[in-house]
Amino acid sequence: MSVDIPRRRLAAPTRLRRDGITRLLRAVQGQPGIAQADLAAEAGLAAGPVSELVRLLADHGMLEAIAAPSTGERGRPRRSIHLADARAHLVGVHLGGSGFAVRVATLAGRELARVDRAWSGAPPDPAAAGVMIGSAVGELIRDGTNPRRCQLAVSVPGAVRGGKIGSRDLEWHWTDEALFLDPLRGCGLSRVLIGNDGAFATLAEHRSGAAMGADNVVVLYMGRGLGGSAITSGHLVLGHDAGGGLGHVPIDPNGPLCLCGRRGCAELSASLRAIAAKTGLSARLADHSASGFAVHLVKLAKDGTPGVLAALDAARDAIRSLGELLAAVLGPERIVLSGAAQVLAPWLLTPRIGLDAPHLGRCPVPMVEGEHGADAIILGAVLAAQDAAIADPDVPGIGARS
Ligand SMILES: [Zn+2]
Repeated sequence: MSVDIPRRRLAAPTRLRRDGITRLLRAVQGQPGIAQADLAAEAGLAAGPVSELVRLLADHGMLEAIAAPSTGERGRPRRSIHLADARAHLVGVHLGGSGFAVRVATLAGRELARVDRAWSGAPPDPAAAGVMIGSAVGELIRDGTNPRRCQLAVSVPGAVRGGKIGSRDLEWHWTDEALFLDPLRGCGLSRVLIGNDGAFATLAEHRSGAAMGADNVVVLYMGRGLGGSAITSGHLVLGHDAGGGLGHVPIDPNGPLCLCGRRGCAELSASLRAIAAKTGLSARLADHSASGFAVHLVKLAKDGTPGVLAALDAARDAIRSLGELLAAVLGPERIVLSGAAQVLAPWLLTPRIGLDAPHLGRCPVPMVEGEHGADAIILGAVLAAQDAAIADPDVPGIGARS
């Protein structure tokens, strides 16, 4: 005799189990080495299911339980729980105008392998880029890891929305992301998240950099272009259009027309591309990494090169105007300048912006230098991959996330 069980009645426990797994993994992510005895309260789960889930996740290579040294007390030995740290699990990819970077890390975030490569000539089209990234990742995960278990996060310098990518640096003109994803799928890499570079940089500075500990903070990422995002009430601002970033906030209604269609965007003054154009150094920027170019500008500024100092002054004015707008709208605790141009902070930052208004309990907002510089994006990509792997854990038998 067979009994038909309606599918809907099966779905609920499966989703509960999956949500419990994600809550548990998030608790371990937030407190690496947390005692198993404290996990239930931290994850909001009953003690029984926690030991069962820890065993399941350890079996599937997502958690490690390490016996802590005995304290001599009676009872069960203390076990500290960590995200798995043995095999490749996370892949951060940074696609830029001059080349790409790949970092392979364990689920705990420990880097296992890396490659940084310049494009030979102009950036490749999406399909060719997909082939290059797929082969680079394949070379880096030679530890026997099944590529299907790897979670990728790919950063693009531009807009990502509705399955399309638009990037001036890559010369991808609102192209279908499937063109890039198909070759990756062909290499077995099917778990791929694509995001805006400024959003990833914001994540990196917030998790482990100059924005750490702030629930409300703005991170500007200045490289060839200007991007960045904000954290409000602890959450990354993505908006409907997860791209373009803060560099395309118009700060001058009478300014020149930007490629994005607006007038007077901050990026038109505050970007390495703009500074290079004003100082006749565009060819040098095209031939060098953004970091190398920024270091060259530091030298020229220290030498007092007039054209360079004037371009940096204009960039500082644009960053201050942008900061005033963002401070008024978002009320951040501070504004962080990250990215390759971070080394130019002494010329680009106004230490405090906004008016002192003690009768409103308001004080000026500090602008500070980031901690990760040009690495912020690739570091943020690895962190975004970790978040994605935890939000949709790769554990057989618990069903796909709906
Ligand atoms: Zn614009």
